[in-house]
Amino acid sequence: MSHLSPDDLSTIRAAIQSQHELLVKQVHNDLDESGRTQYAEVLGRASGDSSDEALAVTLGDLSAARLGHEMRHLYELEYALQRVNAEGFGSCAECGAAIPVARLIANPAATRCIACQEVYEKTHHGQSHGSI
Ligand SMILES: [Zn+2]
Repeated sequence: MSHLSPDDLSTIRAAIQSQHELLVKQVHNDLDESGRTQYAEVLGRASGDSSDEALAVTLGDLSAARLGHEMRHLYELEYALQRVNAEGFGSCAECGAAIPVARLIANPAATRCIACQEVYEKTHHGQSHGSI
């Protein structure tokens, strides 16, 4: 049983979509700023061929860390969008407690309650500079 009402879910879904949209723009801006517009287009098309390698080289010399972080957050948001209708969405992955609606709206990619997230960040010190 979910503690989230249909209204909560649609608010969260809207939050995911607007955050996702913003992040896509930000990724493109970062690529634009470094004069790599052509690679932004490559990213947008998600084409497979040999461009992957060129892209990897390019990403290496712009702020790869920031871009990597943004891309990871994008995937997290996409994953959240897939899960939002599934059973168990909004429950803590560690202890099963209900994650407060406000937390899910602010950070739809959150998979833990605040208490478990704090424990996680302490035990995985320095690995992820937690946006979650
Ligand atoms: Zn928990």
